[in-house]
Amino acid sequence: MLSISDPAAMREHARDVRRGGRRLGFVPTMGALHAGHLALVADARTRADAVVLSVFVNPLQFGPGEDFARYPRDLPRDSGLAERAGVDVLWAPAPDAMYPEPPRVTVQPGPAGERLEGAVRPGHFAGVLTVVAKLLHAVEPDVAIFGRKDFQQAALIRRMVRDLGFPVEIVVAPTVREPDGLAMSSRNAYLDAGARAAAAALPRALATAVEAFRAGERGGTALSGRARRVLEAEPGVAIDYVACVAPDTVEPVEAVDGTSVLALAARVGGTRLIDNVVLGAGLEEDVRVGG
Ligand code: AMP
Repeated sequence: MLSISDPAAMREHARDVRRGGRRLGFVPTMGALHAGHLALVADARTRADAVVLSVFVNPLQFGPGEDFARYPRDLPRDSGLAERAGVDVLWAPAPDAMYPEPPRVTVQPGPAGERLEGAVRPGHFAGVLTVVAKLLHAVEPDVAIFGRKDFQQAALIRRMVRDLGFPVEIVVAPTVREPDGLAMSSRNAYLDAGARAAAAALPRALATAVEAFRAGERGGTALSGRARRVLEAEPGVAIDYVACVAPDTVEPVEAVDGTSVLALAARVGGTRLIDNVVLGAGLEEDVRVGG
């Protein structure tokens, strides 16, 4: 595995790979790698001849008072995991190399970026789209893989690529979950034992809504109400939002169909967690590790 930090060196290497006629796959991450990230790498390997994994904790997407400073960083560990997963190039740029000066021009996410996560975290998606645009420009991959766990982010990236004409295929891969259903997240490392136990209410809430959907319930408010009550019954879980939305526009839907997404965010022992499910697919479409 090759390790690169300089963005110019990354660009040059990626061009060499493509000039050699090899398809390039790209998996952007913020590091603190877990089985969810590694599943994206495995997916990329089936679609490309060489895989680039980036590790960059993007300051632009964190708000004041969020966890930028304490976000888990362990490049030697990430490097070992990436190599064992079959990553060809680990690209970990320094913040100054990505942002030699604060950008004055950024990518604005439009209306779908103002809902859910965007409403709770103003500026977050402009930060995400700006860094993803920069990362894509440096790597120029044929295909880039994102996780459905961050479904709103994935929807906005698809839209950016379409609206701004990025020559890349975007793939959105299923969520990898712990044996009890909790979605894997680098932020799970913040949870103490009590919070970790309480966090199991999140996938339980999603499963309850899926069950009601399967039993014939089609009201968005009724379905999100079911999920909400599961969260409310768990002391130590504080809800940010629970909503049924359309997968692309992220607009609230009342007449739900199988493509609708039930999305939620909650704070558990001071840690903010998000999760979602496509109601027609259920949690079975996702991947469970261990257990
Ligand atoms: P992050 O490092 O959290 O910014 O995530 C990097 C990529 O991994 C994003 O595309 C995420 O959606 C994806 N990802 C995060 N958690 C999971 C998971 N549990 N399963 C699958 N993909 C994930």
